[in-house]
Amino acid sequence: MTTRRSFLAASTAAAAGAFISKGASAADVATTQLPAKWDAETDVLVAGSGIAGMSAAISALDKGAKVLVMEKGKNYGGCAIINGGIIALGGGTRTQKEHGVEDSPEKLYKKLTNPAHHEYRKNTPELVKKYSEWCPGTQVWLEEHGVKFLPTFTRPGKYDSQHHESYHHIWWKDSGEGGRKPQPTGGFMTGRGIMMPYYEYFTGKGGQIFLEHKVLDVYVNDQGAVIGAKVQKPDGSIMNVKANKGVVLAGGSWKANPELRRLTDPRFTENMISTGYPFVAPDGSAILAGMRAGGMYVGDRCEDTPHLRRKFGTAHYGFPKGSKYGAPGLGISGPRWAEVIFTNKSGDRFVKELDKANLGGYTFYDAALAQPEQFLWTVFDDATAKKYHWDTKAPTCEEGYAFTAPTIAELAKLTNQPNLEQTVARYNGFVDAKKDDDFDKPAESLTKKIEQGPFHAVRLVLCVHNLTGGLAINDNAQVLGQDMKPIKGLYAAGETAGGLYVGNGMPRAIMPGRWAGEHAAAN
Ligand SMILES: Cc1cc2nc3c(=O)[nH]c(=O)nc-3n(C[C@H](O)[C@H](O)[C@H](O)COP(=O)(O)OP(=O)(O)OC[C@H]3O[C@@H](n4cnc5c(N)ncnc54)[C@H](O)[C@@H]3O)c2cc1C
Repeated sequence: MTTRRSFLAASTAAAAGAFISKGASAADVATTQLPAKWDAETDVLVAGSGIAGMSAAISALDKGAKVLVMEKGKNYGGCAIINGGIIALGGGTRTQKEHGVEDSPEKLYKKLTNPAHHEYRKNTPELVKKYSEWCPGTQVWLEEHGVKFLPTFTRPGKYDSQHHESYHHIWWKDSGEGGRKPQPTGGFMTGRGIMMPYYEYFTGKGGQIFLEHKVLDVYVNDQGAVIGAKVQKPDGSIMNVKANKGVVLAGGSWKANPELRRLTDPRFTENMISTGYPFVAPDGSAILAGMRAGGMYVGDRCEDTPHLRRKFGTAHYGFPKGSKYGAPGLGISGPRWAEVIFTNKSGDRFVKELDKANLGGYTFYDAALAQPEQFLWTVFDDATAKKYHWDTKAPTCEEGYAFTAPTIAELAKLTNQPNLEQTVARYNGFVDAKKDDDFDKPAESLTKKIEQGPFHAVRLVLCVHNLTGGLAINDNAQVLGQDMKPIKGLYAAGETAGGLYVGNGMPRAIMPGRWAGEHAAAN
């Protein structure tokens, strides 16, 4: 639904983009008049308490700066505090050496700038160079700040087919809101194992985090330097904060803002969900604040898989059973697609149900995004449900997202899929013939007829996950203007910044966060 507020946000982005494309400097585009008085003063102000913001905050604090973190949401920690705690690090980390994986910063740089790789070829070489050099030391740096790594490790090539990275595993004693499976050695693998030690370290050394404080804008002086921020307090009133050494924009992407995420890809409509929502809702406000200060946006890669995820039987991504934020739904992973069919609103199949890479891939997402209202179902019979222990009831699935009926005809009626009976009969014929005349599902995946009642239909929900575009930065994480010059006092990191995609979300937030914090503190 388009609210007035969200429409205004989108218009502002368009307006900012149009203005900046004329080649304006930061001083030209500053929209917010300097306040008559400052309500608070700090060295470094950070917008966002996610992993990028906190990496910056801690780095600035370690260099002796006074730091305030403003978090617009009710929850500390952004996406990382609920995430899976699997982090792509390389270049010769301690863990890589322990597992006999040979790597070096040079090798990592080469890989992350490989022109043949569909994602890495779009990286900014300058950022990748420093990233690769800092990567091995980042494991040590994390450990120095209280983070513990599990003894387990995902070797290059074993995580998915597209990212041949070394995935390190983060440990924490409890799994928190994100809920994760217990580890055999005790504790859990979760990004909470970074965000909780960060919290303890930062607040223990006097750093302050203000929840429900949203950075609306940054203040730019007449020389084009950012000197503070306009912050909205929980009661709606404004607090003007002077930041003597810099403002770090680390508000994540615009994945939870349907109007803005359509700029990334027009297919990312309001029918999709944003991963981690409503625990965390990155709305693009930090990116827009940077653009209004003259920052340049560097584009996304709409065709790439890190953007997207899919969920089954729930409208939420990232929460365990019993969570107040949403249900986990069913784990219908790629290899199990052989035993289900996907249908659209009319009850017609629309794609071959095949996902060996377990990532979805273009074929699946292109077809799914093109269906009317992106309204999709997964249909399977009770033998499959029992085989995989798929429980279609609450609290595993959400109300309105999973249905069961004794016959396909009744399921079709219940879920309003007029063509479902015909579709299932035709599909069962393909399984008998070991040949899919409609979508060419390979014979080895045509293993299971949908024939044993009761029958189940669970909603297949498409999710926007990682967006890789954002404010252009240099290797100090300073935001670049249209003239490619850094805007003094303005930094961006994590999903607020573009130009660096490295295998998953946390490393691209930690390193630029550290660069921003250190550089700002030394300013
Ligand atoms: C469920 C889930 C699982 C994932 N699993 C993994 C994984 O295993 N490994 C991995 O590497 N990555 C994973 N990711 C991705 C990774 O967590 C993110 O890429 C990363 O945490 C992004 O960090 P960030 O700090 O840039 O942004 P965010 O985490 O989005 O944090 C931004 C914060 O800023 C706040 N904010 C926004 N605008 C403002 C403003 N104007 N003023 C003040 N505050 C603001 C937001 O409320 C939010 O708290 C996962 C993500 C999700 C959702």
